[in-house]
Amino acid sequence: MRIRAAVIEQKGAPFTIEQLELDAPRANEVLVRIVAVGICQTDIHMQHQEYPVPFPIVLGHEASGIVENVGPGVSDIKPGDKVVLSFPSCGHCSPCLSGSAAYCLHAYELCFGGQRLDGSNALHRLSTKGEKETVHGHFFCQSSFAAYSIALESNVVKVPDDAPLELLGPLGCGFQTGAGAIFNSLRVQVNSSIAVFGVGAVGLAAIMAAKAAGASKIIAIDIEDKRLTLASELGATHTINSKRESSSEQIKSIVPIGLDYVLELTARPEMLKLAVDVLAPKGTAALIGGAPLGTEASIDMNQLLNGRTVRGIIQGDAVPRLFIPKLIDLYQAGRFPFDRLIRFYDFAEINEAIEDIKKGQTIKAVLKVSTPLSPLRPW
Ligand SMILES: [Zn+2]
Ligand SMILES: [Zn+2]
Repeated sequence: MRIRAAVIEQKGAPFTIEQLELDAPRANEVLVRIVAVGICQTDIHMQHQEYPVPFPIVLGHEASGIVENVGPGVSDIKPGDKVVLSFPSCGHCSPCLSGSAAYCLHAYELCFGGQRLDGSNALHRLSTKGEKETVHGHFFCQSSFAAYSIALESNVVKVPDDAPLELLGPLGCGFQTGAGAIFNSLRVQVNSSIAVFGVGAVGLAAIMAAKAAGASKIIAIDIEDKRLTLASELGATHTINSKRESSSEQIKSIVPIGLDYVLELTARPEMLKLAVDVLAPKGTAALIGGAPLGTEASIDMNQLLNGRTVRGIIQGDAVPRLFIPKLIDLYQAGRFPFDRLIRFYDFAEINEAIEDIKKGQTIKAVLKVSTPLSPLRPW
């Protein structure tokens, strides 16, 4: 079928909206009409090839939509289902089998390979000479900066019919990561203390979740006052602008014995060191921000000796089919108001949306690709 998709031709190039051909879903795949799709930092990293990814490619991995068709062998999902597309996993390796799909041994090829694991690709276009050219797809097994997407049955999450579908895409990556870090990875306790270094979309989701979990001291640290104000409104009990104030001194004055948890999202080595330095004995510093490959941080070994833990977190340790419906329940109960972070753009405004994210004017951009009620219009 002919679809509209945002393509990156080469490293650092803007997105261009083009007509592509999309094959029918194969075994265990589903075809989803995309309603809306969030823009995540990982899409921007990939646009600039900060991690290897083949070009030309269709990115996008925070989509919501309506199932249009299913391939052979699909049993849990049917046409008409409203769904959120989340991260893929193989389902067969040891982390997958032990319930840790976010750490799937095949995650890299599944997310960033630009093709199916068997090397095939559902997306292509015709060259000016009329020859079939591959456009890499299957990014996070969805490539959802597009009117339609091929996903796996296993990375599609059915959501309730009355849920606000156009808002839900970022639950598939960014918001799931921040909230999952609190509920699943750290299991933040009532009356505990936590600092969040960097309050963009993921950090603010973590702040909301920490409040919902009953943490009594929630410290937001950032260099943008606007984001710190939003953090206060969403549950931060203290804010620190690290451009103007010493984070370590301020944290010490708020929690003299040190923090139970720190979430590090800035991906800066000195901030990971600080995250460990400000922990209480037995506290945990968790790294979420993706630093360039090969980045090293120095940590005082004696700090670790005293029972402290440093760990990384992918996708908030979520099992999306269990976790995303819980986040929707929490949202509907008014305890996880993630809609406050979202600003909508038309699909054609994808480059402007990314500029606004970079300038700090938008926390979470969501592109409206089609409306749930409109007739099917692939172009
Ligand atoms: Zn993401
Ligand atoms: Zn796996």
